[in-house]
Amino acid sequence: MSDCLFCKIAAGAIPSNKVFEDETCLAFYDIDPQAPTHFLVIPKEHIGSVAEVTEDNAAVVAHIFTVIAQQCKKLGLQSYRVVSNIGEQAGQSVPHLHFHVLSGRDMTWPPG
Ligand code: AMP
Ligand code: ZN
Repeated sequence: MSDCLFCKIAAGAIPSNKVFEDETCLAFYDIDPQAPTHFLVIPKEHIGSVAEVTEDNAAVVAHIFTVIAQQCKKLGLQSYRVVSNIGEQAGQSVPHLHFHVLSGRDMTWPPG
């Protein structure tokens, strides 16, 4: 298996606190939550970041956004923020595409 933390979580080799799973993606709670509700949604296939999204894999990203909408509805979240960090300067620490979903507190803009 690849030496990628989120590939290992997607494969079940490292446990996660799951929100939702299907054949394409996995949603799980962040281990270091930055809001009362903070979960991540990742594709099961390895994509490094938004910078590696192409016409060939874009359907996975569209699917992830449908999952975000559905799960937020299910969790009763009416206001939330979806964030993806790309590259070190933007704060990306895990080089596998993931969307943070944060909710349950006031958010500031612009983000730091
Ligand atoms: P980023 O810094 O944008 O790349 O986001 C990576 C996120 O993954 C951070 O918010 C971490 O807290 C989270 N994280 C790292 N390891 C785990 C883990 N084993 N389970 C859940 N979340 C994790
Ligand atoms: Zn990966």
